[in-house]
Amino acid sequence: MKKILSKLEALSVAMIITLVLIVSVVLSQHLPDDKPVEGDLVTDSSLPTIIIDPGHGGMDGGCVSVDGAPEKNINLTIALELRDILTSLGYDVVLTRDSDVSIHDKGITGTANQKKSDMENRLEIINSYENAVAISIHQNQFTDGLYSGAQMFYSDSNDMSAQLASCVQNSFVKNLQPDNKRETKEIGNDLYLLYYSECPMIMAECGFLSNPDESAKLQSVDYQKQVAFTIATGLIDFISANY
Ligand SMILES: [Zn+2]
Repeated sequence: MKKILSKLEALSVAMIITLVLIVSVVLSQHLPDDKPVEGDLVTDSSLPTIIIDPGHGGMDGGCVSVDGAPEKNINLTIALELRDILTSLGYDVVLTRDSDVSIHDKGITGTANQKKSDMENRLEIINSYENAVAISIHQNQFTDGLYSGAQMFYSDSNDMSAQLASCVQNSFVKNLQPDNKRETKEIGNDLYLLYYSECPMIMAECGFLSNPDESAKLQSVDYQKQVAFTIATGLIDFISANY
């Protein structure tokens, strides 16, 4: 009797093991279909809106080139070119301004108050989109005319902004400035828009208007188009990796 029981016990154990194996195989075959792995079935509706912020505008010219050209117009031309490239690729694009204006509230007087209102309104546009990626376009300036090259700035208030900055910085090196050794820079709360943006956001300093050669290039339509293409490539690299 003892011997028979142990045989039965052995049989039961074998059956249980077999059943567990069958269930495991069935589950492993069906789980991928029943529960898509994250990243599968990405549709266009999951892609972020791209918000382009051309720095300055209107009474705020930004910095000035060695030959007297204000930064605001270069920022706007690159931004409009970038919008056209991204729109043609099917992205939804929003600009904080598409002409030479400050977007401060009507009735506000005094340059400082107007600049404050302008910044608040830009931030409101950026944060009104739930799924967005934002880029503010600027030109740099330094006392020494030797410095050149694009550099991306970000705030760690959004944990995806550093990667966005790297993608665009790398695109500059790959597509436009192979000798650019600049590194992306985290600037904490120094820049209002970057710090308070709820979506991944960077500021692209596309080049130095204090450098005569780079200033001349940044004012040429061909080079502005190349800068826009370079930024678009970096943005798409970032979006492809995350959305
Ligand atoms: Zn600027």
